[in-house]
Amino acid sequence: MAKEKGLLWFKNDLRLLDNETLCRAVNSCTSILPVYIFDPRLFANTAYNFPKAGLNRFEFLKQTVDVLRTNLQSLGANLLVEIGHPEELIPELIKKYNITKLFAEQEYASEELKIVDAVKQQLSEEITCYFIWGKTLYHIDDIPYSIDKIPLTSKAFRINTTKKAEVRETFDIPKKIEILSLNDWGTLPEATQFNFEVLDDQKENLYVKGGEDLALERLNYYTVETELLTSYKWTRNKSLGLDYSSKLSPYLAVGAISPRTIYYAVKAYEKNIKKNISTWWLIFEVVWRDFFTFKGMRMGNSIFKTEGYKNKEVPFENNTEYFERWCAGTTGIPFIDAHMRQLNETGYMSNRGRVNCASYFVHDLKIDWTWGAAYFESKLIDYDVSSNWMNWHMQAYEIWYTNPVNQSIKYKVADYIKKWIPELAAVDNELIHIPWKIEEYKLKYPKPIEVYSKWARAETKILKLLD
Ligand code: FAD
Repeated sequence: MAKEKGLLWFKNDLRLLDNETLCRAVNSCTSILPVYIFDPRLFANTAYNFPKAGLNRFEFLKQTVDVLRTNLQSLGANLLVEIGHPEELIPELIKKYNITKLFAEQEYASEELKIVDAVKQQLSEEITCYFIWGKTLYHIDDIPYSIDKIPLTSKAFRINTTKKAEVRETFDIPKKIEILSLNDWGTLPEATQFNFEVLDDQKENLYVKGGEDLALERLNYYTVETELLTSYKWTRNKSLGLDYSSKLSPYLAVGAISPRTIYYAVKAYEKNIKKNISTWWLIFEVVWRDFFTFKGMRMGNSIFKTEGYKNKEVPFENNTEYFERWCAGTTGIPFIDAHMRQLNETGYMSNRGRVNCASYFVHDLKIDWTWGAAYFESKLIDYDVSSNWMNWHMQAYEIWYTNPVNQSIKYKVADYIKKWIPELAAVDNELIHIPWKIEEYKLKYPKPIEVYSKWARAETKILKLLD
């Protein structure tokens, strides 16, 4: 490859370590222009009257981009920050700086692919584009299936893939990055530029802070520093605090860490500290993420549609008042409301919470699952196209109902409920799961939308404990 000037378009690969796109750009160009574009369409209101990506997602992204810029600067490079539409800005920059090569991570979902196509259409034929795969643990070229033949079950995918494919080595951070000389590298946007109303204390509420440095710190903390990983299998279904699971999902979602970096850290842990079912399980979960990515690619746009890829016809009732109460965390079901309130405030919810909130939404409230998935998309700082929509699809059509009263007792979440629903702080640790059973109901907490007969056994179990 003749050495020329390259534009490196960062998207969901906001890191220096194990970034093949970055390495390829640096190695094949005399100088590069690293760019990140905040696209206002991402923060615009949807048909549901909430933004596609909400304030917490914006703040987390901004922090991550800020850290990427600082880290590039420490290598003598920089990051151009722009606000606008990539299909206008990228061709302009390429023309302005006589760039001949474009490097970016390869996309896999329709909206993102559409933007990439629009960019390509605006480029002259002399520009060579390199779109490089980087999202998954197993490289798309290494899995033992073509996308149209991805198995329908995760087990089939996992067993065959882990047997037949190897996880590739990670890419080191380039020692030096030659960049184009620019007078103005742009400033990071303020939330108000995307019409967010920012309350004084809001920025501090993020569950975890963004950026590659904190991603690597978290990985180190969860593994060698505290050895929390050893008990992951038994703690992963909890909801209170930070340490019951890895909390790497927000970093993975924006590419502040790569799944291969996590994989090799776990392998080193197995060699040097402990190898057990927990270390196996963490990798198992990361392989789920791969499975959903590839299966989502196979299923195409049907993963965003009410009937899903199973073409189901479910008579959803779509009560808008119930939808609003679910979103606000005021359904009157403590296990659901605590999780929804945490999501609204911090941008994060445990996996147990997500399973229950989705199951209750679809099977009890009987609301179209795509509304709930869109709400999670707006709120989750770890929002990932395939992980979100495929998990929701699974809760709607492919998995059994989850009883939120039963789960509330099983996972002993009284303290968690008290943290997120202060109205219930004084309630007994058993009755807190079913406050509608409190005889003289004087709480400020709302009465439930409905108490279903299928919860009766779980209610009786709690009441017996009080006898
Ligand atoms: P850990 O338990 O520490 O797991 C390690 C990593 O494995 C996670 O960071 C994640 O990358 C991956 N992982 C774990 N569980 C799953 C899973 N069920 N599906 C796919 N990957 C998984 N995860 C997202 O990253 N983004 C989403 O938008 C998202 N939406 C979800 C929506 C619903 C309805 C449900 C039920 C689950 C969703 N998940 C999503 C999966 C899961 O809840 C989160 O990945 C997990 O809670 C993140 O916390 P953690 O990093 O501490 O996970």
